[in-house]
Amino acid sequence: MSAPEAGRWDVIVVGAGFAGSLVAQRLGDQGWRVLVLEAGQGEPEGAAGHRAAVEAYRSAAVKVPNAPYRTTAAAPSPSVLDLSGRAEGGYRSDGYVVQRGPLPYASGYLRANGGTGLAWTGLAPRMHPEDFRAGDFGHGRNWPIDYAELEPYYRAAEREIGVAADVAEQREAVGLPFPDGYAFPMRAIPRSHLDQVLADALDGKCVQDPAEEVPTPLRVVGTPHARNGLPNPGYQLEGNLCSGHASCVPICPAQAKYTPLRTQARWSASVTLVTRAVVSRVRIDGNGRATGVEYRTYEGDDHPTGIAERRADAALVVLAAHAIENAKLLLASGAANSSDQVGRNLMDHPVLLTWGLMPQQVGAYRGPGSTSGLEGFRFGAARARRAPFRVEIGNWGWTWALGPPDLRVAELLRSGGAAGRGLFGPELRRTLGDRIGREIAFQFEMEQEADPANRVTIDPRHRDALGNPRPVLHYDLSEYVKRGIVAAKAVSDQLFALLGAQDHTRFEPGPAWPGYFEYQGRPYAYRAAGHGAGTHIMGDSPADSVVDAWQRCWDHPNLYAVGCGSMPTVATSNPSLTMAALALRSAERIHHDLQGLAREGALSP
Ligand SMILES: Cc1cc2nc3c(=O)[nH]c(=O)nc-3n(C[C@H](O)[C@H](O)[C@H](O)COP(=O)(O)OP(=O)(O)OC[C@H]3O[C@@H](n4cnc5c(N)ncnc54)[C@H](O)[C@@H]3O)c2cc1C
Ligand code: SF4
Repeated sequence: MSAPEAGRWDVIVVGAGFAGSLVAQRLGDQGWRVLVLEAGQGEPEGAAGHRAAVEAYRSAAVKVPNAPYRTTAAAPSPSVLDLSGRAEGGYRSDGYVVQRGPLPYASGYLRANGGTGLAWTGLAPRMHPEDFRAGDFGHGRNWPIDYAELEPYYRAAEREIGVAADVAEQREAVGLPFPDGYAFPMRAIPRSHLDQVLADALDGKCVQDPAEEVPTPLRVVGTPHARNGLPNPGYQLEGNLCSGHASCVPICPAQAKYTPLRTQARWSASVTLVTRAVVSRVRIDGNGRATGVEYRTYEGDDHPTGIAERRADAALVVLAAHAIENAKLLLASGAANSSDQVGRNLMDHPVLLTWGLMPQQVGAYRGPGSTSGLEGFRFGAARARRAPFRVEIGNWGWTWALGPPDLRVAELLRSGGAAGRGLFGPELRRTLGDRIGREIAFQFEMEQEADPANRVTIDPRHRDALGNPRPVLHYDLSEYVKRGIVAAKAVSDQLFALLGAQDHTRFEPGPAWPGYFEYQGRPYAYRAAGHGAGTHIMGDSPADSVVDAWQRCWDHPNLYAVGCGSMPTVATSNPSLTMAALALRSAERIHHDLQGLAREGALSP
């Protein structure tokens, strides 16, 4: 374990995950003395840590996103295994997060050095210019900045995390503006065989979205990836080329997927990381300025021992502990909440999954979880009537919907044959060989609008092993999102018909579907994408938002809260690239603030 450092710092960053690692890197490069306090463990470091995580994943009985990573009781993480559905409808929640909503917040996150960005899928699309003004469509909020303002930071983020994509395709098929001559750091990840089969069958055809007046044309479009494709000139590849191990969630054995540990390896010597340091409170003085943080260090994984209360001081504090943990810290500190918006507007991407069997082999279970998608349902007037959505084409068969193929083997052994008898030997092998390679799934990721009733709170009755509050969540899906899900299901029905695929989608209450609900007399269920957002929402007025356009708390000039928690809309794209761009933009502003403090003599030598 690293030893906690005494003394006063220029900046304290709370959380060494995706956003925190980027901010620390940029500030360290400017020469600022940065202390990064990370709640989770970070051992073993380097290559040994990677090997240990791969081995832990290999031997895990249940291969969920957090499986490879050592978690600790002192900094617990929510897991998708914490939730289960009830046979009579409704859900049960047994984990770290206390759930009180009619429907569950169904995403996990990871508290270990590197954060959730260790386990993420690595899809890195930009938001569309229209996503910044969702409020104009009568749902959610507008951003205080627009696409043009963020565009240079998108480019910087794409370089930092290493994005593979094709500018011409993103410009033409998604409608994204890029400056002339721009090239992504790496060439696009090649299409999977499934993508190609779907493109042959769907490109140029149309489906009728019930919320649209005219049919929507279909086109299979490559998704930008934060994983290694062939480098374009001038880009230095780190890690190996993506070679199709297909375990990106939760770990890439070849280190072809970006994780924040890659950014940490670039930190300058002026950045100090202390792991096993759980921040419990931001200290604010009588003038509303943050003066530092209180934190607890610990040893041990299952039972924290050697707990020590500590304090660190700094000229500026950056919270980068994940959307839910940032809100929890602000609430526990009584900070930044003059608008009463801290913890509110919790958003995610609820995902409707549909699954079926193609008439031909499509090579399921090869490559990253999704290499292409359908982008035509993200924009336009229908956005006023139902939640817009991105469609990911799933390369991993029915895994997300029904679990890994071993479960299908078990089912065939039990009752796969005629008259419900089990299948064995060559018949079993033939049936498996025939079916597994024909599995396909669509993942419809719904934009969820900011709703103040969906929120993170804390309650003194619910504490973790260190005595810190556990997050208490109230979560539900609005009519707007449910109408989006209805539209997505109608689109899915038509896609399966165009493909000649057998639709096996079936939702029923029970353990596998905690997100089961009925709407307009029909059964639905959702999974969640891990895209928690909105809990310290950004705006242009302190009356109804927590942070300004720089992610600086309106109430405290030297306290920043960075991450997806600042996003006014979770938009129609996976959020982390946008979050990274925002973090890099904030780092510039923080540098500027620190220069001002230095001029005032407010920094210690
Ligand atoms: C399974 C999965 C797949 C995903 N796939 C994608 C994808 O393909 N594309 C995409 O855009 N996004 C994806 N995401 C979302 C993405 O991982 C998150 O948006 C991103 O990691 C959030 O970054 P963050 O820095 O805010 O939080 P994190 O990455 O979670 O980092 C927060 C850090 O703060 C630390 N911390 C927490 N509390 C404290 C405390 N009190 N004191 C000190 N430290 C603390 C944590 O240990 C952690 O290291 C996925 C998420 C999941 C779960
Ligand atoms: S497909 Fe395989 S090599 Fe590529 S990022 Fe995923 S796990 Fe790594």
